[in-house]
Amino acid sequence: MSVNQQAHTGPPYGQPQPGYQGYQQPAYGGQSLPGVPRSQYGAYNGPMPEYQQPVPPQGYFPSLGFPSKGSPVSFNSDSSSLAPNFIGSLRAPPTSGAPPPASGASHPSGHLAYSQFEHGDVQNGIPASAAPMQRPPASQPFLPGSGSTPVSQPSAFQQYGPPPASVQQLSNHMAGMTIGTATASAPPPAGLGYGPPTSVPPVSGSFSPPGSGLYTPYSATQGPPPTSVPQGLPVAQPPFPGQTVSTQRLPTQVPGFAPPPPSTGVGPSSYPPTTGAPRPPAMPGPPLPGQTLAGPPSSQPNHVTSPPPPSALAGLHPGPPMSGLHGPPPPTHPPQPGYQMQQNGSFGQVRGPQPNYGGAYPGTPNYGSPPGPPPPPKRLDPDSIPSPIQVIEDDRSNRGSEPFVTGARGQVPPLVTTNFLVKDQGNASPRYIRCTSYNIPCTSDMAKQSQVPLAAVIKPLATLPPEETLPYLVDHGESGPVRCNRCKAYMCPFMQFIEGGRRFQCCFCSCVTEVPPHYFQHLDHTGKRVDFYDRPELSLGSYEFLATVDYCKNNKFPSPPAFIFMIDVSYNAVKSGLVRLICEELKSLLDYLPREGNMEESAIRVGFVTYNKVLHFYNVKSSLAQPQMMVVSDVADMFVPLLDGFLVNVNESRTVITSLLDQIPEMFADTRETETVFAPVIQAGLEALKAAECAGKLFIFHTSLPIAEAPGKLKNRDDRKLINTDKEKTLFQPQTSFYNNLAKDCVAQGCCVDLFLFPNQYLDVATLGVVPYQTGGSIYKYAYFQLETDQDRFLNDLRRDVQKEVGFDAVMRVRTSTGIRATDFFGAFYMSNTTDVEMAGLDCDKTITVEFKHDDKLSEDSGALLQCALLYTSCAGQRRLRIHNLSLNCCTQLADLYRNCETDTLINYLAKYAYRGVLSSPVKTVRDALINQCAQILACYRKNCASPSSAGQLILPECMKLLPVYLNCVLKSDVLQPGPEVTTDDRAYIRQLVTSMDVAETNVFFYPRLLPLTKADVDSDSLPAAIRNSEERLSKGDIYLLENGLNIFVWVGVSVQQGLIQNLFGVSSFGQISNTLSALPVLENPFSKKVRSIVDMLQGQRSRYMKLIIVKQEDKLEMLFKHFLVEDKSLSGGASYVDFLCHMHKEIRQLLS
Ligand SMILES: [Zn+2]
Repeated sequence: MSVNQQAHTGPPYGQPQPGYQGYQQPAYGGQSLPGVPRSQYGAYNGPMPEYQQPVPPQGYFPSLGFPSKGSPVSFNSDSSSLAPNFIGSLRAPPTSGAPPPASGASHPSGHLAYSQFEHGDVQNGIPASAAPMQRPPASQPFLPGSGSTPVSQPSAFQQYGPPPASVQQLSNHMAGMTIGTATASAPPPAGLGYGPPTSVPPVSGSFSPPGSGLYTPYSATQGPPPTSVPQGLPVAQPPFPGQTVSTQRLPTQVPGFAPPPPSTGVGPSSYPPTTGAPRPPAMPGPPLPGQTLAGPPSSQPNHVTSPPPPSALAGLHPGPPMSGLHGPPPPTHPPQPGYQMQQNGSFGQVRGPQPNYGGAYPGTPNYGSPPGPPPPPKRLDPDSIPSPIQVIEDDRSNRGSEPFVTGARGQVPPLVTTNFLVKDQGNASPRYIRCTSYNIPCTSDMAKQSQVPLAAVIKPLATLPPEETLPYLVDHGESGPVRCNRCKAYMCPFMQFIEGGRRFQCCFCSCVTEVPPHYFQHLDHTGKRVDFYDRPELSLGSYEFLATVDYCKNNKFPSPPAFIFMIDVSYNAVKSGLVRLICEELKSLLDYLPREGNMEESAIRVGFVTYNKVLHFYNVKSSLAQPQMMVVSDVADMFVPLLDGFLVNVNESRTVITSLLDQIPEMFADTRETETVFAPVIQAGLEALKAAECAGKLFIFHTSLPIAEAPGKLKNRDDRKLINTDKEKTLFQPQTSFYNNLAKDCVAQGCCVDLFLFPNQYLDVATLGVVPYQTGGSIYKYAYFQLETDQDRFLNDLRRDVQKEVGFDAVMRVRTSTGIRATDFFGAFYMSNTTDVEMAGLDCDKTITVEFKHDDKLSEDSGALLQCALLYTSCAGQRRLRIHNLSLNCCTQLADLYRNCETDTLINYLAKYAYRGVLSSPVKTVRDALINQCAQILACYRKNCASPSSAGQLILPECMKLLPVYLNCVLKSDVLQPGPEVTTDDRAYIRQLVTSMDVAETNVFFYPRLLPLTKADVDSDSLPAAIRNSEERLSKGDIYLLENGLNIFVWVGVSVQQGLIQNLFGVSSFGQISNTLSALPVLENPFSKKVRSIVDMLQGQRSRYMKLIIVKQEDKLEMLFKHFLVEDKSLSGGASYVDFLCHMHKEIRQLLS
């Protein structure tokens, strides 16, 4: 059987996955399984009932036939003509200032009075067009029976796996897995790890205390040592009245994390001396979720007693090999006595009197308080806890100079913050796929025990730096790509050719498939095909196939896509200058529509609609002298009043388009219409694309809550009182399911929606965002849009959005080798079954996070494979498959898992998981679950991979030492813990944004980059070294820049030298700096140039143009800025890093006890 035939009988996405019980996939097309919704791609299997483009009857006068549906109205008032009228001579807009479109009653043409029009004036002139008003058939039959989309389904917030029923259970569970001391602290035998040395952090990160021997086994080739934090920092242990609580374990400091001696620790006022701990429980506001301690106010002093004797508390002098430690203890701390205990091999408290947690945790024994007076409070030195900056810098210096070569299985790539080049030698570049771990547990039990989520963050159309090669396009002609007979995986470097090259064994399902004759090639002595290096699909991790007609909807090659610009022309949009701005911009921007490689002009056609309560369509056919407007005022049942002339080639219709864009702002200049519709706008675009039989994108520019009478009409249901209640989730849910259904229709047509919002008040982003979100589109929000300050940002976003690479009508499937399978998906898309991620549009910035679960055992020998196949239509209308392959290692030792994790990716997954959770669960529940999961991850490490004798210490895996700080940032984010200034729309907006972010974006979003500008070297191209996000790192004599991917703050200290202020702002004093600047003035001096070049560089790195905000120290805007100093306690109650670390430590200890 030839491959070609295979393709027919087994469509690309159509085969059931063999071997997965209860996981049958519906076939696309005719053979859908009972009870399983059919996918729209049924077309792959052959013809199916489909939308037929209606042909308007000849000579049909739409306005007669459908009097209530709308009326063609030309700008011209020459009513005597039935021919299209043109805008030219008469200015269409009403002189009265009344709303533009209007009533058919006044149709001078005398066709008919349209009774539904209540206004008497025809502002736009005459109905004149003879354009057919035929309605296309109602709705598409593509998705019969599909239910609501996954996003809207309130599914219960799930645990990441069955958590242990109790601490005891976990304990028992873990006990079974405990690795002996020797092997636990030492890495597993080299044979177990496939990770090349490059993936292993340098040994410099080790904290081995001299003589301890505990960490020494971590050699450079074996993996990083754990990071440990001295437990002595009495972890956020809430004191309870009437109970004495010892929060200190004496001898537990690990060098490098040594807190200052007690005497010096009292310093900071922020640590109430009354507790022996660093201000542990005193998390104001919403306490850290997960705390079971319902008890007394945390601020109560005096329940903490029996701190260790000062001598024992003292910070240990760092041992020699501590180089990797960030912020080794200040040299001023002499070695302390407590150190001896560590030489016994025990970092932790020896089992014995335990700190008294009894009161806090019911059921745990109260060990009583150790004797002795309370020690002076100690302060956890922020320099001694893991620093994101240090980790980032270390990775840059260690891994930034060599290209990352993807030949070996399971390699951990450099961090997203490191600049590096990638050489594809058989695995997909980390720009396309990053994983939470590159070494995954062989069994599901191990995976559950660790609680480390197995997920891949996939950006299928990622932009590559110019130095790297785009995926090659492979054309196998009519036979199409070679695929496994059974699982339909695409030919890739991991397929095994056998029998002299006549057959190949699938690396995913083991099925053996004949090599089609045209693809046959001999093997060399190693079993490799001799054309190995000539074929991208045999030697590279990423490549594309040209798809055959079998991969096309309705078995028809697609038409080039269309862009439709849909502009709100209600009062606010006009008055703010937005309408004029958009029209002006489009005149030039249309020359930059996406083009395929070497094509001279874009194949994308364009169309234009304006709207308020009614919709205005424009005929911009090249043969017209002037554009022609048609008004549809019956928005209840939207249709497109013209077919010919609506979607046009820019170059052919340039004159007409320019004329239209010149006239739109004038036509509506005097509008008084404040109400808008929204759903009908999307419906109109959708209908237009259906009529044109193409996919495309709608660019909708919208200003207000759509309260006008129409389908999808919304009401203002904003209610901040719901925050922190069980109903808070409703703020994130759409207020009607109407938009979910609309989104489904849009996806079926390949109609992607990009939404630009310009609200002056609540407009329900949670609901308006449904269609953009589920169609793979983007949302941009410019609250209180003002031309002067916001136009640059908006125009930059618009330009980038219009120009960026995008695929249409996309379907992505991730195949996996036997043993694991993709079980959950996060991102902007729609799913009509459990495996296929459908996106009407997918651009180069969009990311899909995929979670995997075991369904069988994996083997260390064969590892695990992922293949992501994206079927899409290019901007020129070419149907393509983009394939990304990635091979991972598998392990039987938990230590291998923890050594090959990537915390940035983990955070990307956890944030998306949590942000979806708020749709269905109270926010507090979501926060608790996050904390709980991370505590379990770290406890499992502590239990199984670290020294069993160091119970009292916080020991973090090297690759996860930033997990607490980053997790805290997620917990404190606006979605999970909003401050008073954060609106409901902001939260819904951020929630949707984060869901499509890649790892680099979530990294900087949750832990912003803070650069001391005054330390920048004006003579070099480099950036000043970043500093940690804490107010105590700021000097009032300096200027700093903070960016998080959405905003750039420039913070100016009160004592900055006048010369610097003059150079940067062009004013002579601090007081004269305007905090309303939206850009830095262009001044001809080195400092100004340097700072502006930094800003430009950062803007260029991000997918959105960041808003620039100048913040003067002690000015009121500083509160906003401080919100982003994420290591500090937040105004909304978020814990500081130090406090949170202590809290995590407590949680971990609780799990281990
Ligand atoms: Zn297979």
